[in-house]
Amino acid sequence: MIVDLHNHTPLCNHAVGEINEYIEAAIKTGTKYFGFADHAPMDFDPKYRMAFSDMKKYEKDVLAAKEKYKNKIEILLGYEVDYLQGHMDERVLSADVDYLIGSVHFIEGWGFDNPEFIGRYKEQNIDEIWQKYFDTIKEMADSKLFDIVGHFDLIKVFKYMPKGDINQMAKPALEAIKKADMVLELNVAGYRKPIGEAYPSPSLLKQAYELGIPITFASDAHKPEQVSMFNDEVIKMAKDVGYTECATFKNRKKEFIKF
Ligand SMILES: [Zn+2]
Ligand SMILES: [Zn+2]
Repeated sequence: MIVDLHNHTPLCNHAVGEINEYIEAAIKTGTKYFGFADHAPMDFDPKYRMAFSDMKKYEKDVLAAKEKYKNKIEILLGYEVDYLQGHMDERVLSADVDYLIGSVHFIEGWGFDNPEFIGRYKEQNIDEIWQKYFDTIKEMADSKLFDIVGHFDLIKVFKYMPKGDINQMAKPALEAIKKADMVLELNVAGYRKPIGEAYPSPSLLKQAYELGIPITFASDAHKPEQVSMFNDEVIKMAKDVGYTECATFKNRKKEFIKF
């Protein structure tokens, strides 16, 4: 992937491989801008993220790698932050990074993308779940705390699809993303999940394009061998709807790269 801004490290307790291994894989696959955005610490669901005491080590290790590889690839530093009312921490939100990805992994405290809690899909109206999810994405965009929207339609992960029109449900969220000047990532993790397609779907991507929302690319790698996987698929998807450039960030400022 020419630009790949969403990748993890073992500090989050559910990824494997060393920082250097991720970078070597990125260099091998022709990546020009490779960003780490590991799960930021939070006082909720601590099992699946780094601890606050790991932040310094994480930032130091990524910056050391940036220096080490500077002649081969541009390494960027970010965090993937959970948008969860009452649990977002100033130490993360004000961190000295290139960008922050805002992700919704919880609806009213329910970790809807965690297979452990999959039973909850059967207990509620599926259309209401989807609408609540997109409403939360809208709230996240309105908060103006983040630069990139993580996996925009993650709610489809287990393939529990709504009866209603998804483009209609997502419309206020996309409009808020545009208004907040955020970037949407084309994230390939969905290919590795039951849904078997990228986040967002081609039809939501088309809607984003029509609204003038910029994109970036994301392996969302939790192992080095996942770096740049499904690159051809997402480049084609982006080109098919009309995109010719993607965003990268430096000190929380956007830059555009042709692909
Ligand atoms: Zn993860
Ligand atoms: Zn995520």
